[in-house]
This record gives sequence, structure tokens and C-alpha cells, in this order.
Amino acid sequence: MTVKAIVTDVEGTTSDIDFVHKVLFPYSRERIPAFIAEHIGDPALAPYLSMVSAETGLAVDDAEGIADLMQHWIDEDLKHTALKAVQGMIWRDGFEQEVFKAHVYPDAVHHLRRWHAAGIPLYVYSSGSVAAQQLYFTHSAAGDLSALFSGHYDTTSGGKREAQSYQKIAADIGVAPADLLFLSDIEAELDAASQAGWQTVQVVREGTLASERHRQVTDFGGVGV
Ligand SMILES: [Mg+2]
Repeated sequence: MTVKAIVTDVEGTTSDIDFVHKVLFPYSRERIPAFIAEHIGDPALAPYLSMVSAETGLAVDDAEGIADLMQHWIDEDLKHTALKAVQGMIWRDGFEQEVFKAHVYPDAVHHLRRWHAAGIPLYVYSSGSVAAQQLYFTHSAAGDLSALFSGHYDTTSGGKREAQSYQKIAADIGVAPADLLFLSDIEAELDAASQAGWQTVQVVREGTLASERHRQVTDFGGVGV
């Protein structure tokens, strides 16, 4: 197969979905009260506390009340800009203090390195923010992998299940859709990429719902690039 650039999903594709759900999310939930209390006067945190205060009527310096509310949002799986920002700051601390290292499957590490060495530009497209993606690959258990990627895309480029997003990303990368390969574990994302004219391969990890509509591999070695 001829491929001029590869775009990969993260959760369930390069990385174990459990790392995010069983390590990162519980850590941020547990750390929120102490983090907000410790950083209450911090200018990086202030706009998000003001945002929550304006929306809910909680006092901007009510660290406990805001922390309780944010933990409740996590339990409800509510995606709020302020919550995402605070989680990002907590994860940054966790990665930098080496509380944990990001999981990347060994086959993904090996082949991402190999493709990069072969001169194939690599990109990430994930629902996690670009900043979170960079943090993740900088602090992987296999070392700093951030230099392997030529660019990152998140949902500011559109939803992962919408063909338009893939058209937009192809235009931004500057490679014809037919020469782009998207790797993901999710059928609906692969369908959208395929609709936009991209090549697709489904990476089937433990727990992945296999798709009939896309070529499947069980690790990056099967991709055949
Ligand atoms: Mg995924």
C-alpha cells in the first residue's frame, strides 16, 4: 500500500484505553480538591474558577465547593472547559513528577519509530486536546516519543466521526486523502475517514469491537507500510 502520511488515534489504538480510564481519570478526580486549594491564587487557574463561579453562583474562592462540583462532573462524564483545563494541569504535574508514565503498546512504539525513520510523516488525531497529546507522548513509558510526530489534531478540527474533519486535516497536512492512512480502533471514525477518501486500518486491541468494513490488524506490524 502506498501511504504518504499516517494519522493515528491514541486511546485503544497506540495505547491501552484502560490507562486513561483507570489511571488518569481517577488520579485527576482524587487530586482536584488539593490542587484547587493549593493553586487558588494562581493566574493559570483563575479564569477557570471565574468561569465556574459565573455559571453556578459558587464563590470564586470556594475551593471546596468548586472541587466538589468538578468531581461530580467527572462522575457524570460531563465535558466542561474548566474541568478539562484543571484535569490537564493535574495530569501535567503527575507526568512531570513521574507519578505515572503514559502507556504506548510496544508494537506501536516500534513501528512509529520505524515509519518516522523511513521519512513517513506521522500525526495524531485524538479527542484529547493537542496539549494533552503532546504531554502524553513526551512522558511515555518508552521514553519521549514527541519528536516522532509532525503534528497533532483534536476536536477543534471537528468530531472524529465526521468526514468533514478528515477533509480538513488532509488539507492541513497537504497530502491527498487517498495517500493518507488513518489508524483507529473505532469503526465510526474509520467510516468517516473512508468517506473522506482516506485509507483505513482498524487496530483491534483487547476489547475492540471488530469492524467488517475495514482491514484489521492486531498490532502495528500488520499495517504493512
Ligand atoms: Mg480510540
